[in-house]
Amino acid sequence: MKKVIGVDLGASNVRAGIVDETGIVANFKKGRTSTPENFLKFLASILDQKAAYAKFGTVLGVGIGAPGQLDLAKGKILQSPSLPSFNNFEIVTEAKKAFNLPVFLERDTNVALIGEAWKGKAAGIKNALMLTLGTGVGGAILIDGKLYHGEHGTGSEIGHITIDVTGPICTCSQKGHLEAYLGLAGVRRDYKIDHWTLIDRVEKGEKQAIKISEKLGVILGIGLASLINVFDPEIIILGGGLSELGERILVPARKTAEESTLIRPLKTEIVIGKLGDFSGVIGAAKLVFEG
Ligand SMILES: [Zn+2]
Repeated sequence: MKKVIGVDLGASNVRAGIVDETGIVANFKKGRTSTPENFLKFLASILDQKAAYAKFGTVLGVGIGAPGQLDLAKGKILQSPSLPSFNNFEIVTEAKKAFNLPVFLERDTNVALIGEAWKGKAAGIKNALMLTLGTGVGGAILIDGKLYHGEHGTGSEIGHITIDVTGPICTCSQKGHLEAYLGLAGVRRDYKIDHWTLIDRVEKGEKQAIKISEKLGVILGIGLASLINVFDPEIIILGGGLSELGERILVPARKTAEESTLIRPLKTEIVIGKLGDFSGVIGAAKLVFEG
C-alpha cells in the first residue's frame, strides 16, 4: 500500500506520522516546535528509521501544513507571527533537499479541514468551515468540495474577523478581532489563565473556569453567526486546543450563533472535529496522495 509522511507544523508542537491510502496513521510523533533546523531533524527521525521503511514500504512524499502567510507557489513560509524563526524559510526546498522526496505545502488550518473532509466530520460534505482554536485562531473554507484560498492566497483568515471594533488589540495589532479574545494571548490577558489550565479546571468542574469557557463560547458564537450569514455551511468544525472544552464552549456558541443569525432556526451544525491531534497530519498526507 502507498505511504506518505504527513506533517503538522504548529506554533507549539510539530506532529508527524506515516499515513497510508486509507488514512491510517502509524509512527505518530509529536515534538516541540523550535527552529527550522530542529524541524528538519524531527522529520528525519520519522523518515530515517530503517525498520519503519521495511515495515511500511516506500514513502511517496511529504505533505506539510504550516502556519502564517505562505507563498504556496514558492513553497515558502513568508511570515509566521506564531513562529518567527520560520519567517522566509523555504520549507519545501529544504525538505526536498534533505529527504529527496516530493514535498507539498498548505496552510495549517486548511490541512486540518482536508483531514476532516477525508476521514472526519466533514466527510462527504461539500460546504464546510473549520476554526482551529489554538495559540491563534485559524480558519479554513471548503466551498463545493474545494478549499477556498482567495484571489491572493490570503483568504479564510477567520481569526481576524472583527467582533468589536473598539475591542482589545489582536496579535495582528488591529482591534477586536476574534483571535484577540480566543487566542492564547487574549485569554491570558482577560482571565489570567492559559488554554491548558482552563481546560483542566473545566474538566474538574470549577465554576469560575466554566464561566470563562461560556464567555468564550458566546464570543465565538458571535463570530460564527457572521460566518453562517455569509457562507451558509452545512457544518462548522472546531479544532485546536480550546476545542477540548467540548460542550462547554459548543453550547453557548450554538446558542449565540442561533440568536444572531439572519435565518433561524439554525441549520448549520457546529461540532468538534473528529480527528483531534491527527487532523493536520492526515490532511497533509492527503495533499501528497492528491499530488
Ligand atoms: Zn487580528
